[in-house]
Order: sequence, then C-alpha cells, then structure tokens
Amino acid sequence: MNLMNACTQHLIAIGEALQAYEKKHGDFPQWLSDLHPKHLKDERTLICPADEEKGIPMLPYDEDPNLPVSYEYEIRPEYRVWIDEECRVYGDINPIVRCKHHADPTADSTLVAQLYLNLSFSYRIYKSTGRWTNHPVEAYGNLETAIKAFEKGLQQVPENRDYFRLYPDLVRLYVEVGREQEADNLINSFKSIMQPERFERFRDYFFLSEMFEEMGRHGERLQLFEELEKQDPRPPGVFGELAKIHEKLGNAELAEAYRVKANPKLKLIGKSMSDFSTTDLDGNPISLQQYRGKVVLLDFWAVWCGPCLGEMPNVKKVYDAYRDRGFDVIGVSFDNDEAELREYLKVCNIPWRQIFDGQDGSLKKQYGIGGIPSPWLIDREGKLISFSARGTTLWQLVAEAVKKA
Ligand SMILES: [Zn+2]
Repeated sequence: MNLMNACTQHLIAIGEALQAYEKKHGDFPQWLSDLHPKHLKDERTLICPADEEKGIPMLPYDEDPNLPVSYEYEIRPEYRVWIDEECRVYGDINPIVRCKHHADPTADSTLVAQLYLNLSFSYRIYKSTGRWTNHPVEAYGNLETAIKAFEKGLQQVPENRDYFRLYPDLVRLYVEVGREQEADNLINSFKSIMQPERFERFRDYFFLSEMFEEMGRHGERLQLFEELEKQDPRPPGVFGELAKIHEKLGNAELAEAYRVKANPKLKLIGKSMSDFSTTDLDGNPISLQQYRGKVVLLDFWAVWCGPCLGEMPNVKKVYDAYRDRGFDVIGVSFDNDEAELREYLKVCNIPWRQIFDGQDGSLKKQYGIGGIPSPWLIDREGKLISFSARGTTLWQLVAEAVKKA
C-alpha cells in the first residue's frame, strides 16, 4: 500500500472517531489527541506514514500538547469563529483535518508541489494543492455541485471582501461549462461593488484581472493595468501583472522588461557577483574569490528570523549531500547580538563559516538585501544562479550546478 493510501486510511479512522466524539459530546474535541484512547484506540493513527518528523511540527505553536500528531486540525479554539464563517459560505466540504506531508506526483519537476489530503466536515476525503477552493471539482465531486455551492456561498456574502475570491473562482467554473453569459453578469456585479478608488483595496483590480483572463478579455485587462501603472501611488504588483499580461499576449520582450521592473534583482541572475572582503566569525579573512570553483550558497539570515531557522535543517542536509562535490555555504548573519549567534551555531552544530554583518551591515548594503531569508546561490564561476534558493528548489539548483565543472 502506498503512503497516500495508508494516510487515507488514517483519515477515515480519524473521521469516524471525530464523528463518534461529536455525537457523544455535542461538539468537536479541542485537540485531535483528545480522541485517544476512547474513540481512537491506536495513537499511531495520528501519525501520517509519510511524515518524517513523526508528528513533531516545525512550529511549536502547532504542536498538540498531548501526543505527536501529523495532521493539521482546523478547528482549534482560536479558529472556531473563522471556520464557522467558512462553513456558512462553503458548506461542510470545508476541511476539518488536513495532511500536508505528501508531494504531488503530477507536479512540474522544477517545483515539487505539496499535495494536501483533506478530510471535510462531511467526512469526505479529497486532494488539493494549497487552497482547497482551487480544487472545487475534487472537493464537491463534480462541476455542477461545485457551481451550486459557490453560488450559494456568494448569495450569503455578496459584499464581504474576505470572500471576493468567490467571484473569480465562480467565473472560472462558468467558463468551464460554457456559461459565458452568467460569467459576464458576475463580472458586472463585481464591478458594481468593488471600491478600488481606495488605495488599500487595490486587490480588487487583481480579482477583476483574473476574471478578464478567464474570459480571454486580455485587451481590457491590459488597459486596466496600463491605467494603474500611471497612478500615483502605484498599487503594488502592477508591474508583475503587466508582465503576465504581455506574456499572454505573446509580447516576450515587454513581458521580460516588466518582470525586471517588478523585481530589479532579476537582472543580476547569470551575472558575476561583486566580491566582498571581510573577516569571518573566527577572525579569518573571507571573500567570494576564495570560493571560486565551488558552488556557494551565500545565506543572508539571522537567529531572530523564524523562516531562516526553519530552513536550516534543509541547508544542512544539502550541505552534507554535496560538500564533497564542491558545494559550500557562507552564512551572513544580520543578528544584533553576536553572543546569541555564537550560541545558536554551537548548539545546532552549524559547520560552515559565518560572517557577522550585524554591526555595520556592509554586505547588507552592498547586495541591497531588503528582507531575510535571502539565500543567494552562486555558481563555480562566481555568477548568480538564484536569490531565493530554498527548500526543494535548493536541492534541484545545487544538484544541477555541481554537475558543471
Ligand atoms: Zn499523510
């Protein structure tokens, strides 16, 4: 039995236990571990067979206080109000328990997408990647049921900005079944309630853009964002959207120009990195030049940065796997407290060299680092490969880069 099937069996058992618990207590348990042992005999059912951490979550905040649990429980007390609202809008197909430990086997190989297994309030099991509402057919069983559910949801909250996503989601489904007229009507109702003249509501434009795209109305989409480009202040994300629109229209050069405008650092990719010369934490001179001939991860990070620490086990694994084939890491720490940095490096046994940039931030300035994590990957010739080499992307990029002599 493969891991996903085994996990599905666990979800079925958890669903049955939740149902029994709810019947007895008139409410759902506070934690999934409360199901054990009365309603769920074997506590190992709470561990997904694909979970390498065996029920220990990355963020302590997510930890079930009683038992190791691999599954995400959606109705913990602090989420109750929110989930009640979600169920009012989307119905009982909302997930109550989710497993996020599976890779999507159909995903594009350049990006390993996560596949979620969802157990709904109606005890239906379905797959999705990321937001489950992106997969209404999987969730509701078929297109027509999904359309009816979204229509019903929209009737409940037509002007609630938290649920504006329903508009493009429903337009997409209408287009799929050829109900263009209803899609048009929906776009018109959205236009009548959107209030994008208020700067903080610029998101409305993106929903409208999505709907135009579904309908193939690229001209209107382009016109809309060319107007926005002229606005002062210019809403965030306009350049990125113009890049996508030009891509769609087949204007490759304009698309590229807008991609660079949206993210000026992109023009550094493939170019030689400027060197630096400083001292590492042990007081030894360090520069990029010393690493020429190696693939280097220049990892801008800090102990106070949660996502940086979350990525550390992954960097360690890549380092162990590829250090003998010419891969190395240089940590550039933006910490304020050098003692705290040293303590972390010691406790977590981080083997690569570190630069304490905190005091004057000269590397931060030199490379124009806005936020961290900022993992820059550099090839053997000193050229930049990526400035967001993390997770599975790091594995793939390093594997490719070390192959080149
Ligand atoms: Zn699982």
